Amino acid sequence: MRNILDLEKEELHTYLRSLGQPDYRVGQLWSGLYGSYFNRWDQFTTLPSNLRHHLEEDFSIQPFCEVTAIQTPDGFTKKMLFQLPDGNPLESVLMYSGERISICISSQSGCSVGCKFCATGKLGWKHDLSSGEILAQVLYFVRELNEDQQKITNIVIMGMGEPFLNYEQLKKAILTMNDHDGLNIGSRRITVSTIGIPEQILRFGQDFSQVNLAISLHASNNQQRDELVPINKKYPIEKILEAVRQYIAVTNRRVTFEYILIKDLNDGPEDAIRLGNLLHGLLCHVNLIPLNPTEHFHRFPPAPEAVRSFRNILIDHHVPVTIRSSKGTQIRAGCGQLAGKLS
Ligand code: SAH
Ligand code: SF4
Repeated sequence: MRNILDLEKEELHTYLRSLGQPDYRVGQLWSGLYGSYFNRWDQFTTLPSNLRHHLEEDFSIQPFCEVTAIQTPDGFTKKMLFQLPDGNPLESVLMYSGERISICISSQSGCSVGCKFCATGKLGWKHDLSSGEILAQVLYFVRELNEDQQKITNIVIMGMGEPFLNYEQLKKAILTMNDHDGLNIGSRRITVSTIGIPEQILRFGQDFSQVNLAISLHASNNQQRDELVPINKKYPIEKILEAVRQYIAVTNRRVTFEYILIKDLNDGPEDAIRLGNLLHGLLCHVNLIPLNPTEHFHRFPPAPEAVRSFRNILIDHHVPVTIRSSKGTQIRAGCGQLAGKLS
């Protein structure tokens, strides 16, 4: 059965016309799905019952089921584990931080890139999410928050998977998030994190000049990056930076580089100097992420002083930098810890 959330407005038009329905029904259906966040067909009371009946026969409205929710003791982070109809896992995280209510959503179940430090990478590729499956994660939290009159302030597409290896579906989903007649989530409140696929970076800049872009760099030379991020052999650092320069020329937007700090591997002063020289003068910002523990990567984060000295060297190179405090590591909801199982 098809998932109704996979259909763009135009496709809904075609479907409804095939049933002899007037065009204004599209607006009613759309605002029920994305404005009122209905997840049962009987909630669409503006639609005639024979149409509701057709919709119910032809489409599902909930593309996955909820398996478990797990929360940190402070209640600030909550990880959801869902199951897709093919049995594969899907994880999404809700995070409260000051005024911000962010959700971190997935673009794939598993990931084919296989970064050494990442639990999702270890899981391997399972399933490319459809646009409706990406959107359903947003709607899930929107509904939950709506009950407490709260709203999502930020969406990060940084959960399981590599979004630029599922670009078409990602694009469709972001366009629906942006839609003024529905979710109406502004581009500047959305961030996509990628391992760095040069041609997709350019495409993304053309398609979404206002959506934030974060690139997982993690190393300052190819030898180091080859070790950590196998896809670097295909898309080495210089190719990524070339694409980023072109992206900035088109969008004039600041790019974030994520850099996981791993003790005795990429956290020394020489690494910081090399990174500073590499990024100096580029319209960018570095987000340092002390490594989160995962089962299969036997390395550690550096001590807090080492993290601070790394940051100071970047500041000396006039590269803007922040240190990310990882949320939800106790419940394996931190970056790179999403592996489709619950501790
Ligand atoms: N595939 C995309 C998005 C998902 S990974 C990407 O790689 O950017 C989201 C973020 O988590 C990335 O910055 C990634 O590098 C980081 N991450 C992965 N494993 C991690 C770990 N063990 N500790 C800290 N961050 C990790
Ligand atoms: Fe995939 Fe990103 Fe994990 Fe690498 S870090 S394996 S690209 S999800």
